[in-house]
Amino acid sequence: MIAPQENASLRQYNSFGLDVNAEYFAAFSKLDDLRELLEWRKRKKLDLLLLGGGSNVLFKGDKSGLVLRNELMGINLVGEDARSYVLESGAGVVWHDLVMHCVKENMAGLENLSLIPGSVGASPMQNIGAYGVEIEQVFEYLDALHLESGEVHRFSHADCQFGYRESVFKRTLKGEYCIVKVAFRLQKEASLKTSYGAIQEELERLGGELNIAKVSQAVINIRQSKLPDPKLIGNAGSFFKNPVVSMEEYAQIKENHPNLVAYPSGEGMKLAAGWLIDQAGWKGHDRGAYGVHDKQALVLVNRGGATGEKLFALSADIIADIEQKFGVRLEREVNMID
Ligand SMILES: Cc1cc2nc3c(=O)[nH]c(=O)nc-3n(C[C@H](O)[C@H](O)[C@H](O)COP(=O)(O)OP(=O)(O)OC[C@H]3O[C@@H](n4cnc5c(N)ncnc54)[C@H](O)[C@@H]3O)c2cc1C
Repeated sequence: MIAPQENASLRQYNSFGLDVNAEYFAAFSKLDDLRELLEWRKRKKLDLLLLGGGSNVLFKGDKSGLVLRNELMGINLVGEDARSYVLESGAGVVWHDLVMHCVKENMAGLENLSLIPGSVGASPMQNIGAYGVEIEQVFEYLDALHLESGEVHRFSHADCQFGYRESVFKRTLKGEYCIVKVAFRLQKEASLKTSYGAIQEELERLGGELNIAKVSQAVINIRQSKLPDPKLIGNAGSFFKNPVVSMEEYAQIKENHPNLVAYPSGEGMKLAAGWLIDQAGWKGHDRGAYGVHDKQALVLVNRGGATGEKLFALSADIIADIEQKFGVRLEREVNMID
């Protein structure tokens, strides 16, 4: 069996760059190794944390128990018909590497999700999304190992119960499964989604033939200009979700704040959390080692030497202030790890 490392640093395994340790840490690249590690953990009665790229977690401090990093690799074409391909990817594959593979092979559907950090295995957890696309639109099925029995179960689209930055794995099945493989249905004929955000403008600037490679490049350029690179400044992307409110609540807030930024969402409206935080004066907020990014009000940053507890306290201050000013309670998108 792979021997778990004791008192291992997780600094390189979390995009906030927090200097925290795991009581035990191991990485696995085979299902049998995962099963053995789970047995070992059961015998020792340890807590478990599954980790991919660590780009959507905030460690509040050192982590007791066993931290397992998923390194299950492999991208395989497993199906094809006249219009589409089915591509399976190991959960440990870096998300952007999968997107680049699809762009190279001219398999359409993931290009708007270029450059989202993290692993393929975590992508269904919160139904990752950007620039008008969420993975549920291209998701085919996933395989997940039941942590208790060690059996692998297949989940269909309906089984995953996807929502906005949500899935069954964050709700009723939280902590019960390790996602080991995800399959996507990708199109031979691309239907490009270019109307969201600044994509159209960036495409015009790039010029030339319009194809999935060009859309991917436009998204990469926009993201690089707007979002801080976690290798340079610790962060986990958007810290908060965009709150969805009823039409009545929306009308009330809009009355006091006519410039409110919001989009229709189901029966209600999705408010731009970044706009609310910016309006409340938090953008660029500086507490020395940490604070709020100066270009992106949704992004909390570790400028070096912050602790998870402090970042968590900052997020709580923002939530309380937004609730007091707008009557809306923000929810954290990032997973808090005690
Ligand atoms: C700069 C930046 C920009 C970002 N932009 C976006 C964006 O545009 N859209 C978006 O949706 N997200 C975005 N994110 C958030 C993040 O990239 C995604 O949530 C990503 O899917 C996290 O993947 P990960 O492998 O790093 O997950 P981790 O942070 O390692 O894990 C996240 C959660 O999933 C669980 N988990 C991880 N792997 C598995 C598995 N195989 N099986 C079961 N549970 C698992 C973990 O226990 C944890 O609870 C951004 C993050 C950063 C740092």
